[in-house]
Amino acid sequence: MANALFAGSSPLEESSIIPTRKTSRANSTLASRHLSTSHVSPVVHAPFMTEALAEARAGLNEGGIPIGCVLVRNGQIIARGHNRRIQRSSVILHAEMDCLESAGRQTAAFYKECTIYTTLSPCAMCSGAIRLYGIPRVVIGENKTFVGDETLLQTNHVHIDVLESKECYDLLQDYINKNHSTWYEDIGRE
Ligand SMILES: [Zn+2]
Repeated sequence: MANALFAGSSPLEESSIIPTRKTSRANSTLASRHLSTSHVSPVVHAPFMTEALAEARAGLNEGGIPIGCVLVRNGQIIARGHNRRIQRSSVILHAEMDCLESAGRQTAAFYKECTIYTTLSPCAMCSGAIRLYGIPRVVIGENKTFVGDETLLQTNHVHIDVLESKECYDLLQDYINKNHSTWYEDIGRE
């Protein structure tokens, strides 16, 4: 049933999904808690969340907030992004928005075949964009640091998986511990 994760996709083969990166570490460290279904193996998610984490680390290396995202269609990563609020002095470039912007203009039919992977629970802005464009599936690295607008997603029948990734959590927590004000600015809180 692994191919059920991606509408219209062939059964996933990890070696063909991300040929340039090893995925064994993520397979051993990413646990999964499925909120609305239980038929998709966490191993299916791990390679893509590993890539979202790589985006988060790239953002950190740029001096930004370490949150990353990838957009997957038919078992392939078609766009990547990370939080660039600091780097671009942007008010909208959360990781998900950066990733969607990177994917460029797409049709509703295109978005229906996509799954978005993000290292952190998507905020109201990003959840709104996911809902607006009709992306049917969101895989979240962790929602312990911050719970975004998952209610909006769920009430609009967006499938959510939360992986409870310690790597995603630790990376962001370490940043927040050193950068309180930047973090709170990112989520619109004092
Ligand atoms: Zn956001």
